[in-house]
Amino acid sequence: MVNITAAPNGKGVTRREFLAKGGTFGAVVALSGMMPLRAALAADARIAQAPLVDKGFASVRKIGEGLYATISDESKGIQTMCNGGFLAGKDAALLIEGYVTTAGAAFQFDALRMASQVPVKAALNTHYHFDHSLGNAFYGAKDIPLWAHAKVASRMAESYLPIQGITKTAMTGPVEKQAKEAQSETVREHLQSDLGMMNAVYDLVSSTVLSMPNHPLDPAALPLKVDLGGLEAILESFPGHSGTDIIVRVTAQNVVYAGDLIFNTVYPVCFDAQATMSGWRATLKTFASWDKDTLFVPGHGPICGQEGVRNLREVFDDLAEQAEKLHKAGVPRAEAEHRYAVPEKFKSLGIYAWGFTIGPAIAKLYEELESGKH
Ligand SMILES: [Zn+2]
Repeated sequence: MVNITAAPNGKGVTRREFLAKGGTFGAVVALSGMMPLRAALAADARIAQAPLVDKGFASVRKIGEGLYATISDESKGIQTMCNGGFLAGKDAALLIEGYVTTAGAAFQFDALRMASQVPVKAALNTHYHFDHSLGNAFYGAKDIPLWAHAKVASRMAESYLPIQGITKTAMTGPVEKQAKEAQSETVREHLQSDLGMMNAVYDLVSSTVLSMPNHPLDPAALPLKVDLGGLEAILESFPGHSGTDIIVRVTAQNVVYAGDLIFNTVYPVCFDAQATMSGWRATLKTFASWDKDTLFVPGHGPICGQEGVRNLREVFDDLAEQAEKLHKAGVPRAEAEHRYAVPEKFKSLGIYAWGFTIGPAIAKLYEELESGKH
């Protein structure tokens, strides 16, 4: 059994325990992580057929000159959980994501060292969410500057410190009660999936020493050009997923590290208080306007081209259409959140717990309809 998170008491959360408690991850991942590169992408000369390294829970693959993508497969372990990668120029390297454990961040750092010995300029959290930031302490210990949107440190503190101060029952109790009292089997199932996720988040957060970024990036000062020596990256901020999202764009090679602004083969995670449906859809419209050969490293799921952006836009369109219909029919918001029906064409998409994805998407679309933003 793999010990993935070393807790102060020496007791870690094992993968088996994690998957048992957060079974949702396992189920979703079985759909998303194991998907092979699509045929069209397999023919893309930028993507190396053989990975630089593959540890099961994640593999690292060359996707351009000095560009590498780290793609997670949570069905085989949750050391990394999200995707990321690194850029290595002649003079310096940029690491992307802190991952969910220090072991995940260490894995990516070791992969960088297999490819290049240049000094590391920085590691970037594309946003504050736990699966992208709980492994940050690894960079702190290595004196690697940690970059992120200026709001990441405070959002991490606000979101995760309170969890560290309470028992698991205090966190999950109210939802357990709701699940028990649920009027329908559908609602009960949705709440059960949320409980799986909450248990997982509690275990991960409570066994981690939080490590905040020490180099806040003021969104007003973006885009920011980062010169790594013959390799230029641009950091840009876009609305949508978390209110703290930053992407890494290498325009000379049409490669974009999109963070969680792109979910590929899974429903988008929309629970964040700062997530905005209209903002996210506008961001995806912008991505769609970029070069037709753009390669995107999504936050979750396999690497994609513009078809990944198209697919995700269709998912948002469907969420919006169904929300609008329910709203017109006078279905109250709390009920509408559970009434969305996954259409046949999206049946293969993974769902990271209803209350983190579809439920809040419908709620936010309702808010937008009612405030006239839609
Ligand atoms: Zn996220």
